[in-house]
Amino acid sequence: MTIDLSQLDQDQLQAAIAPRGPVAILAGAGTGKTRTITYRIAHLIDQGLISPQRVLAVTFTARAAGEMRDRLRAMGTLGVQARTFHAAARRQLRYFWPQAYGDLPWQLIENKFSLVARAVRAAGLDASTENVRDILGEIEWAKACCFTPYDYVVEIGKTKRTPPVAVEKIQAVYEKYEQTKQSGDTFLLDFDDLLIHTAAILENSPPIAEEFREQYRSFVVDEYQDVTPLQQRLLKAWLGERDDLTIVGDANQTIYSFTGADPAFLLNFSREYPHATVVKLQRDYRSTPQVVELANTVISKAVGRAAGTRLELQGMQKPGPEPEYHAYDDEPTEAREIAGQILTLLKNGVPAREIAVLYRVNAQSAVFEKALSDAGIVYQVRGGEGFFQRPEIRKAIAQIMRASQVGGVPGDDVGEQVRAILAPLGLTSTEPSGTQARERWQLLNALADLADDLAQSNPSLTLAGLLAELQARAESRQPPTVEGVTLASFHAAKGLEWDAVFLVGLVENTLPISFAIKAGDAHIEEERRLFYVGITRARRHLHLSWAYARQEGARSTRKRTRFLDGIVPELSGAEVPERAPRSPRCRVCGRPLLVATERVLGRHEDCPVEMEAAIFDQLRAWRLETARENHVPPYIVFTDATLMAIAETLPQDSAELLEISGVGPVKIEKYGESLLALLNNLRA
Ligand code: ATP
Ligand code: MG
Repeated sequence: MTIDLSQLDQDQLQAAIAPRGPVAILAGAGTGKTRTITYRIAHLIDQGLISPQRVLAVTFTARAAGEMRDRLRAMGTLGVQARTFHAAARRQLRYFWPQAYGDLPWQLIENKFSLVARAVRAAGLDASTENVRDILGEIEWAKACCFTPYDYVVEIGKTKRTPPVAVEKIQAVYEKYEQTKQSGDTFLLDFDDLLIHTAAILENSPPIAEEFREQYRSFVVDEYQDVTPLQQRLLKAWLGERDDLTIVGDANQTIYSFTGADPAFLLNFSREYPHATVVKLQRDYRSTPQVVELANTVISKAVGRAAGTRLELQGMQKPGPEPEYHAYDDEPTEAREIAGQILTLLKNGVPAREIAVLYRVNAQSAVFEKALSDAGIVYQVRGGEGFFQRPEIRKAIAQIMRASQVGGVPGDDVGEQVRAILAPLGLTSTEPSGTQARERWQLLNALADLADDLAQSNPSLTLAGLLAELQARAESRQPPTVEGVTLASFHAAKGLEWDAVFLVGLVENTLPISFAIKAGDAHIEEERRLFYVGITRARRHLHLSWAYARQEGARSTRKRTRFLDGIVPELSGAEVPERAPRSPRCRVCGRPLLVATERVLGRHEDCPVEMEAAIFDQLRAWRLETARENHVPPYIVFTDATLMAIAETLPQDSAELLEISGVGPVKIEKYGESLLALLNNLRA
């Protein structure tokens, strides 16, 4: 299959067809960086310039890696390794460890909290969860920067970083933690050690390095602006003296500096490789010009950055709605109103998987999870613990565990066994119709799909093996895909895109986050970039909101984020009703409608209305006839709820009909005339 390069513009093409060797794509959000590297890989392989097994593509998240493999597969390119730095290192280490260290057993620690806590206690420090987390973050930062405990003390003085406790204490904990990992019979490694050891083996063992470099010859790194010194060290170890490296990134999207990431590697690439092909892309293919304009304005206010890194995006999509700005009195109201707007989008045909709610910190998800649940909207939390914390999933996993303990259940593989185990919990063979049941079904189905996938790559996987894998995923926060609205932090949304994006909770101390405000300008700028990343996730609908109080009825103590200053006028709470369309209200009692079926009906299920049963019956008879004529099941014509709403409101013309939830232009076109004629007769 030849790769259709006409899918790229001139600049993208230049990067895609550049000969093997260093290539840098420095470009803004949505300009097709990820797309271009995918085509480049496919093209090089297609032209016989490299074989797929020789390419290693590194992405920022496991999901991005999966997407890249899918896209390559769609172009007929199979066998390319696309992984995160960690996953790649883990695989390589597993392979090379015996050659390097013989039969010394090693094990990956998925959760280092308790080990660090022990070291914290040994250093005479308070081992509260918060303290341990802070110190752990500091150790991770030091390791990502390639600092030993000794280096740490020296190097931190050169930065503006404020350590959570005295540097000597951190040094002591760091040292103790490293010793503990190496003191048992089994060598313990944390995630960073995977990279450190892989790099060290390649650096110190020429035969292994040779074997590795024989295997992998061409490297591609996406989101290179967020590479840490440790990842860069590993990349260098992979490459050796070679320069067959394609990198893409956007300095304006550097959002992981707090973990040690450094955009300098991106910005200095052409100095490191003077003969590199450097391509800049400016055309934004993702978002409408309206979204692009806001993105440009927000990032143009960045301060203290080299002017050369500023790229003005040019929107290539056709125009869409203006971004919307909404101020709410309190968070629960904000969440409820947004759930209402999501229902409207769903009703207008935007698929749930094309909608995202993005926030600064994972804790913000709770209030939105509740509002979406109340409204009967299926969702999944990305980057947070959402999926594995859901009661349905916890129960499901407990059930699998029980089955595993009693020796399993019949079934060809774990996928089949899991489906059998989950059936009594609500995983029927077809999707049920009630909102609660559907939501449960979708969650359980996602779990079963995951089991299927794992069984495919490892047919001998047992239930116990599956449980271990699930545990690892819960800890590394890698939930399976559920068909629903995405809830994610700005950080987790990196590189992704949706038709409709809600940026929520845009208040000071959340964005920018309080510790960034304390830490100073550089940190505030990182928060601004985070906001920019959020904005540029939207293809078409972009909705920005904030709430002045945390709880209903509480005092308004919050201030809108500074990043909107000079961009949107400040809205006071009182202005909200005009500016923010309220969610649909019950036409009987006037209170908001939160449940999807009630929205269709236009009233609460238990709010009484006068509806003549005779009219409803006539409408049902009409529906049955229409359905027969059109060879479709009756509910395809109109659902019961829609029919009931029609019977209650007796619309007089197409415009009034359109007001009813469940009636769109297509239905009017198909059934409007005969329905209105019937209603006319009924009224007469
Ligand atoms: P980010 O910085 O957010 O990671 P990116 O630069 O990697 O963005 P992509 O995700 O590759 O951008 O592309 C953004 C969107 O634009 C995708 O939907 C992609 O398919 C589309 N796109 C990219 N290039 C083109 C093109 N030449 N023609 C049409 N669509 C394109
Ligand atoms: Mg990308």
